[in-house]
Amino acid sequence: MHNYLTPNFSFAPMLPEKASGSRVWDTDGKEYIDLAGGIAVNALGHCHPELVEALALQAGRLWHISNYYTSRPAQNLARQLVENSFADKVFFANSGAEANEAALKLARKFAREHDGGHKHEIVACVNAFHGRTLFTVSVGGQPKYSRDFAPLPQGISHIPFNDSEALKQAVSERTCAVIIEPIQGESGVLPATQEFLSTARELCNRFQAAFILDEVQTGIGRTAKLFAYEHYGIVPDILTSAKALGCGIPIAAMLTTDRFAPAFSPGSHGSTFGGNPLACAVADRALSIIRQPETLAHVAEQGGRLAQQLQEIGRDTGMFQEVRGKGLLLGAVLTSRYEGRAADMVQAALKHGVMILAAGGNVLRFAPSLLLNDEDLQEGMHRLRQALMIFQAA
Ligand SMILES: *Cc1c(COP(=O)(O)O)cnc(C)c1O
Repeated sequence: MHNYLTPNFSFAPMLPEKASGSRVWDTDGKEYIDLAGGIAVNALGHCHPELVEALALQAGRLWHISNYYTSRPAQNLARQLVENSFADKVFFANSGAEANEAALKLARKFAREHDGGHKHEIVACVNAFHGRTLFTVSVGGQPKYSRDFAPLPQGISHIPFNDSEALKQAVSERTCAVIIEPIQGESGVLPATQEFLSTARELCNRFQAAFILDEVQTGIGRTAKLFAYEHYGIVPDILTSAKALGCGIPIAAMLTTDRFAPAFSPGSHGSTFGGNPLACAVADRALSIIRQPETLAHVAEQGGRLAQQLQEIGRDTGMFQEVRGKGLLLGAVLTSRYEGRAADMVQAALKHGVMILAAGGNVLRFAPSLLLNDEDLQEGMHRLRQALMIFQAA
C-alpha cells in the first residue's frame, strides 16, 4: 500500500480496522489484545457504549462554536475537573503539548507580572517528555527531539530526575516554573520519589515559582487515583492532562488555581478548537465513569495482576530485571542482554496478536484499558510470553 504521509513515523505492518473493549481487528481479520491503549489514551477501551452514546448525542446537537462562546459540555467538563482536583480553573486545548505550552506560558506571564522579566527560568528534568512543539521539546529533556530545530527557546535548565540536591541547586529567585512528570512515561515508566516531589513543592513555595505537574500520561485514573499527585500528598499549581482525558477524542486541559489563572487575561492565550463541545461531551462522560471508586479500584487490582504476571514472565525468560510503575502504567525493564531491543520485542508481540509499547530502548510499556478484564489480561500475557520465548530462541 502506498503511504501518503510524511516519513516521521514507522507504521506497523498491519492496518487496524475495528475494535471493541481491549480487542482490535486488522483488515485481514486478525485479532489483537490491546495492552497499549493507543499510548495510554483509550482508558475505557475501544468504542465504550456510553462514549459512543455521548458522541452520537452531541453530534446531533452542536459540534463547534468557536471560543467566542462557551458551551454546556465545556462548562460541565471544567466543573467536573475542578470538583475532583486541586484546581479552580481550566483551560482547554487539543493535545498534551498544547496543554504544556499553555502551562509554561502561564507560568512565565504570571512571573513577569509579579516580579518582572528576570524571573523567567524553567527547571525541567533530563529525559522528560512534554510534547513536540518547539517550546515543549526544548523543555523536554531529550536533545534528540530538539537539537535539529535550533535555535531553541531560552531560559530552560535540566536536572537529573529524582535528584533533589540538583533541584535545590537549580531553583532560585529567577525560576518561574518547575515542571515534572510524576512518572516519566516516554523515557521508561520511572516514578518520581516522594522526596523529589516534596522538595519541588517546597522550593516552588520558597521562590514563588509555579509547580507544574505534567499528568498527560499519568492522569485520569491511569495510576489508580484520578491524578498521580494524589499518591504523594502534595498539590501542583498547574497540572496538564490529555491522552486519557478524551479516551480517544483529541482534547487536553490545563488545570490551575485562582492564584495563577488571572495571568491568562482576555486575549492573552487561545485555541480555535479548545473547548470544542463534541470533544468536551465525550470527555465529560468518560470522566464521570473513570472517577468512580469502582473503576479506580479495578485499576489497582488489574495493575497488581498485570505486574505479577510480568514478573513471572521475567523470572521464566530472564528478560526483565524489574517491573515498575503504578496502576495500569507499567514498565518491564529489560536485562542488559536485551539492551536496545524493546522496539523489536514490540514488533514480535504484535505478530503474536498483542499490542504493547516501548518506552525508550530498554523498557516494555503497558498502558491498557482501565477496564481490562481477566480474560483479556490472561490472553494478552499468554501471547506475550509466547512471543518473547520465540524472540529469545531466534
Ligand atoms: C504524550 C505526552 C505528551 C504529549 O502529548 P501530545 O498529545 O502528543 O502532544 C506530553 N507529556 C507527557 C508526559 C506525555 O506522555
